[in-house]
Amino acid sequence: MTDRQTILIIEDERAISNFISRALSANDYKAIPAFSGREGLSLFFSHSPDLVLLDLGLPDMDGLEILSQLRGLPREAPVIIISARDREAEKVKALDMGADDYVVKPFGVSELLARIRSALRRASRMKLSQGIQRDVYQIKDLTVDLTRHLVLLGGEEIHFTQNEFKILELLAIHAGKVLTYDFILEHVWGPYSGSGSNQILRVNMANIRRKLKENPSEPKYIHTELGLGYRMLDD
Ligand code: CA
Repeated sequence: MTDRQTILIIEDERAISNFISRALSANDYKAIPAFSGREGLSLFFSHSPDLVLLDLGLPDMDGLEILSQLRGLPREAPVIIISARDREAEKVKALDMGADDYVVKPFGVSELLARIRSALRRASRMKLSQGIQRDVYQIKDLTVDLTRHLVLLGGEEIHFTQNEFKILELLAIHAGKVLTYDFILEHVWGPYSGSGSNQILRVNMANIRRKLKENPSEPKYIHTELGLGYRMLDD
């Protein structure tokens, strides 16, 4: 039996903090509550948690300030934002600053646990492949082979344009994580992709989905995170 994974909850509302703590303990995680930003940072240093749940509206500091401090450290842990702020701009900002995911309050336990599992899986994948670029990604019956520049769906090769392939590659490498429009545009078209480029991305994404035979109302591979970006499913 391995040690339980530790999750730091930086959240000032006791009711929510207790609710999350109970859910985590019941699912074999060790929960460490912090009720202010400063306490959160100090517990991060003393406990080296495997993951951080971070509220944005804290009494002493803004959550985004904590996020930027955590992101500057050599010892990284995935950060999932839990917040009542559901403004798109806030979410995009947090994700662009390196948050791994974003859950809007009120949320259900099973959704939160799924996001936690996904972020922890991604982190351990990163650790395993430190320095070694993985080259084949398997998502259900979809195979994205980076070395051979090949996409297979149920064993059958599908042709993608160069940009479509770049988008798929990016989503596969970061499977489970929301990638913002700007992040994808910058990595595929370069930093100066300019205005109107969201439209180009949407067109490319529609083509990718058509080729993957995605049912838009029940996507198997690529989820649209409304107003934020896209997420490749990794379950
Ligand atoms: Ca709060």
